[in-house]
Amino acid sequence: MKKICLISAAMLSLFTATSCCNKAEEKPQVKNVIYLIGDGMGFGAVSSLLLAEDGVTGFEQAPVIGLSETCSANNYVTDSPAGGTALATGTRTKNGYLGVDPDGQQLTSVLRKAQAMGKRSGIVVNTTLTEATPGAFYAGVTNRNMTYDIAKQFTESQVDVAIGAGLSAFINRPDSVDLTATLIEKGYDVYLDWKSVLNTSSDKFVGILTMGDVHRRNKSSNTTASAADGAEVCLAAKLAAASEESGDTTRLSEPTVYLQKATQKALEVLSRDNKQGFFLMIESAIIDGYGHNNDSDGMIVEMKEFDNTLRQLVAYVNEHPETLLVVTADHETGGTAVAYNSHEVGNPTPVKLSFSTKGHSGTVVPIFAYGAGAEAFAGIMKNMDLPKKIEELMK
Ligand SMILES: [Zn+2]
Repeated sequence: MKKICLISAAMLSLFTATSCCNKAEEKPQVKNVIYLIGDGMGFGAVSSLLLAEDGVTGFEQAPVIGLSETCSANNYVTDSPAGGTALATGTRTKNGYLGVDPDGQQLTSVLRKAQAMGKRSGIVVNTTLTEATPGAFYAGVTNRNMTYDIAKQFTESQVDVAIGAGLSAFINRPDSVDLTATLIEKGYDVYLDWKSVLNTSSDKFVGILTMGDVHRRNKSSNTTASAADGAEVCLAAKLAAASEESGDTTRLSEPTVYLQKATQKALEVLSRDNKQGFFLMIESAIIDGYGHNNDSDGMIVEMKEFDNTLRQLVAYVNEHPETLLVVTADHETGGTAVAYNSHEVGNPTPVKLSFSTKGHSGTVVPIFAYGAGAEAFAGIMKNMDLPKKIEELMK
């Protein structure tokens, strides 16, 4: 009898413990969401950073790690528009489509859903504001090259702060409309230079900068921007190649910290009077370009810059515990690997990536999650699951 009582007591304590844990597992409060996307950032890119960097990277500070299958609706290998659409809207679409389903119907992004919940929103990219990945969060077109339409849809996006490049699509237009004037009419401050962006105290602004402002010039070797293996020659590849072709060895000091500083600026704006929370999407676009160009040195430098932004965001999350930070890639680019070659531990030979394609690959990509609700991103999932999980956590 005594033994039975003991068992019952043990069962009771187990039950209590379970109840206790269930209580503790109640839905976490996610007020702010930061979605950091490394375009083309696969395991090779992350591995090269981990091996090249002695300090503790932002990746290593992630309490939760998952994997994402990056297929599009019609191919194991996605392009950036379809990859961005899955990450933004929770629906897989055909390659080439952006923000619309395979039938061409407009989808609603998780950024739009955050806005509908009363959250403020922001977009920070080191490419044009109309590129595929940011575009997937506010636009809907059946061809990524419909840049003029994407720019027009950007003016209707209602984001509170946006910083990137690509002025031409806003002012040199076939319809002769000056979309910077449209933005001003809608209550935005519009800045066309980096200093004004850095110094502004505006609560609602768009910074449309030059490519030189948002991306460093880097001298490297062994570069072609050709599209082997059916690869898209995306803007990022051209950018990475153009900067190298220039032979300019001088590092412009601002672009090397652009993404970090622009992110900091957006956080400063969105954190101001932040009652309902915010949704901030950040894209580091040129990792993809170095993958297309099979440029190991360029990719590693780019990953170090990505990590500077990431470490800053991890510090923000640590200070603001109601914030969820999700870091992932839309796809892998270059079929990257740290192959055997001459790599030896302790040998000062720099880390060199090998590449198996000049295009994207269908290899799964990593997910790193931090802060409130991060546990939801453990395990293997599909690219379109990520925004669904974020939406659920925001409710
Ligand atoms: Zn690409």
